[in-house]
Amino acid sequence: MDKCSFCGRTKKEANLLIAGLEGHICDYCIEQAHSIVMEELGSRSNFKLDNVNLLKPEEIKKFLDDYVIGQEDAKKYLSVAVYNHYKRLMQPKDKDDVEIEKSNIILVGETGTGKTLLARTIARMLHVPFTIVDATVLTEAGYVGEDIESLLTRLLQNADYDVAAAEKGIVFIDEIDKIARKSDNPSITRDVSGEGVQQGLLKLLEGSIVNVPPQGGRKHPEQKMIPVDTKNILFICGGAFDGIEKKIASRLNTQIVGYGASQNREKIDKGNLLQYIAPQDLKAYGMIPEIVGRLPVLSYLNPLDRDVLKRILTEPKNAITKQYIKLFKMDGIELEFNESALDYMVDKSIEFKLGARGLRSICETIMIDAMFELPGKNEKKLVVTSDYASHKLEKVNLKILKAS
Ligand code: ADP
Repeated sequence: MDKCSFCGRTKKEANLLIAGLEGHICDYCIEQAHSIVMEELGSRSNFKLDNVNLLKPEEIKKFLDDYVIGQEDAKKYLSVAVYNHYKRLMQPKDKDDVEIEKSNIILVGETGTGKTLLARTIARMLHVPFTIVDATVLTEAGYVGEDIESLLTRLLQNADYDVAAAEKGIVFIDEIDKIARKSDNPSITRDVSGEGVQQGLLKLLEGSIVNVPPQGGRKHPEQKMIPVDTKNILFICGGAFDGIEKKIASRLNTQIVGYGASQNREKIDKGNLLQYIAPQDLKAYGMIPEIVGRLPVLSYLNPLDRDVLKRILTEPKNAITKQYIKLFKMDGIELEFNESALDYMVDKSIEFKLGARGLRSICETIMIDAMFELPGKNEKKLVVTSDYASHKLEKVNLKILKAS
């Protein structure tokens, strides 16, 4: 009778018995062997920093270029910050007393302009644990919502609970603007999701030891907390900061009154005020000064214009059109989008204010019939023209896409 060659369990006693060349192994022994392997090799963590593989800022930016179109400034800032983060982690402990401090980052830009994409792309190339969290779920301790510490739960999970690795990781905090103080008046009655949360977040950004619930949330009050030191964790924050242009404009206006005012005024590109963003604008928006001080690298993302939207359709390594072409190729069908079709999709995305996110849903809507019908047919080529695209798209109400 077949038995596990390690523990002797029979086929009946085990859930699974796998045959080898000269023996068998059961699921229990596989699991046990796995944990031995993990224990033995655990110290050889996946997250290893080494000098050799450290990409230079220009190389980091080149990598970002493959996935993110435009946003040159943000890419440059991010590349430098990430590079310095690595160097900081590797800094020798010499006696010159110079300690490279960490430079957390804040990216400001309309929604859908690529903030999360930038963070995700950085994560692809890094060998440190990484996570994206949303600031909107946070509330002050004691209120409904999640404690600040839970931000680190996902990081720990992504690091396979390797605390040392997590302590060198990167956390992207999305929608940071949602925890801005709602009023400029700091003495306003308690603001559960605003200033209090910022105070809590400050602790994390500054670097301190926090007790992280390994399973997150408050659902498991009995769980044992894991202490995590945030001193070396790099935080990248992103937010749309709707309406911050007004604060920028009023600052610029006061600055340029006086000598040389008329000259300066002409140089200001009123269509894209975000490029002039400065830390004091974040304060004016309702971020507490201490938080602003802990996010010393401030950069912005440009709104996406027609040209960029079109490039997004075709250029990134995993551009939407490339994905459809690959899908069809697997069925032996050659798919082509002509220029007019690309222009049409961009036009519709702009017309309905859907931005880059909308391109995907527009493309999906145009392609759905072909994806449904062509695999069963003999046609081996499809050229998507603007006529084809408009014919398919006219059937749906684009406003529905907006919600997605
Ligand atoms: P944000 O975080 O700024 O709200 P996202 O990064 O989530 O925006 O962007 C949404 C989607 O739009 C991305 O997944 C990507 O497909 C596309 N996109 C946005 N901006 C760009 C860009 N600059 N280059 C390439 N794709 C982009």
